[in-house]
Amino acid sequence: MSMLEGKTAVVTGASRGIGAAVARMLHDRGVNLGLASRSGDDLGLTDVVAKACDVRDLDALIQLCEETAARFGGIDIVVPNAGVGAYGPFLELSREHLDEMLDVNLKGTVYAVRAALPHMLGREGDVVTLASEAGRRGLPYEAVYCASKFGQVGLTRALDHELREHGIRCANVCPGGVATDFALEEGRGRTEDVLPGMMTAEDVAEVVVFVLERPRHMRILETAFRPITEGSWG
Ligand code: NAP
Repeated sequence: MSMLEGKTAVVTGASRGIGAAVARMLHDRGVNLGLASRSGDDLGLTDVVAKACDVRDLDALIQLCEETAARFGGIDIVVPNAGVGAYGPFLELSREHLDEMLDVNLKGTVYAVRAALPHMLGREGDVVTLASEAGRRGLPYEAVYCASKFGQVGLTRALDHELREHGIRCANVCPGGVATDFALEEGRGRTEDVLPGMMTAEDVAEVVVFVLERPRHMRILETAFRPITEGSWG
């Protein structure tokens, strides 16, 4: 039996890719779930709260967290994961891309924690932020994506100071390339070019679960990992 059984987690960006893999893996371990994505997909999982919820909308996230907490008696874990990316020369990124990356990746993470935290205080809990290698290193042609990911990492690191005394652990999970649909139409390359050799969404979900399943007397602050096909430049 997993030590996570009976806990409640809110996962954003849960409709596909890494968020869906995390949600499925937690569900397998008996974790109650609140799932946020624009599509509101429940992944066919039983007894979950799934809502169409744009992470740029704090009120929508507050409502999702209130509903999840009311249904399951509180929230123990929040996984801010929803993210978008557009790669390319800085001056060639559209205004829409600049705003979307900062709003979804960075503000969406701030909002997810802001919405979940009131329901986590008084319980032992975890904030596990899906950041990126792009949150640890400046990468070429990923300037604004990097800015949004460094922001997530900074937020989560700083929250660690504030929340540790409440028994809430804060971790950044920082993968390299993962074979999902992420940013494929926005400069990450065509599927056949970039996906072979990358990690799977399940590889990343296993790291999230590993972080969550550490005994409560310790905490992991950051995990960085890359596919064997990817160098450690940058
Ligand atoms: P993905 O397959 O494109 O999935 C993105 C998820 O985010 C979807 O569920 C999408 O659902 C949701 N989403 C997008 N915009 C949203 C919004 N405004 N409000 C709510 N949900 C939204 O991407 P992924 O590869 O799983 O990436 C997940 C996270 O991992 C991101 O933060 C990404 O930066 C990070 N990451 C990815 C990689 C990689 O190589 N793939 C590497 C390192 C880190 P809807 O469309 O239904 O809203």
